[in-house]
Amino acid sequence: MGFKTITVKTEGRQLFLDITKHVRLVVRESGVKSGVVHVFIPHTTAAVTINENADPDVRQDILNCLEKIAPPAGPYMHAEGNAHAHIKAGIVGSSVAVFVEAGQLVLGTWQSIFLCEFDGPRTRNVMIRVTEG
Ligand code: ZN
Repeated sequence: MGFKTITVKTEGRQLFLDITKHVRLVVRESGVKSGVVHVFIPHTTAAVTINENADPDVRQDILNCLEKIAPPAGPYMHAEGNAHAHIKAGIVGSSVAVFVEAGQLVLGTWQSIFLCEFDGPRTRNVMIRVTEG
């Protein structure tokens, strides 16, 4: 099968948005019982990661840590003013892969799939491809 693109709005400058339910829906609609789902974000100032879904402080701690590594004020050469967001997106990465078994995502109890916004608010696309096998 091909891939499906979902569109989400991020309603803040920097945040983690749980997109697990969107991925679950695409897996269910694919009919694939055993395989892998790839989640890819075609943007340079947002990222995708898997991390803890229980304590929201974990997400904030990650954002705070990235803020120390790449503070918005710079100095940077990139004139658009969002170099920090490009750096954070590069560190976190643009895709994740999750196994699918019995038609379900194989995630740990405390894991969710997050879109990481570093230069919002914006409308973001996420590409999801389910592969059987
Ligand atoms: Zn830029």
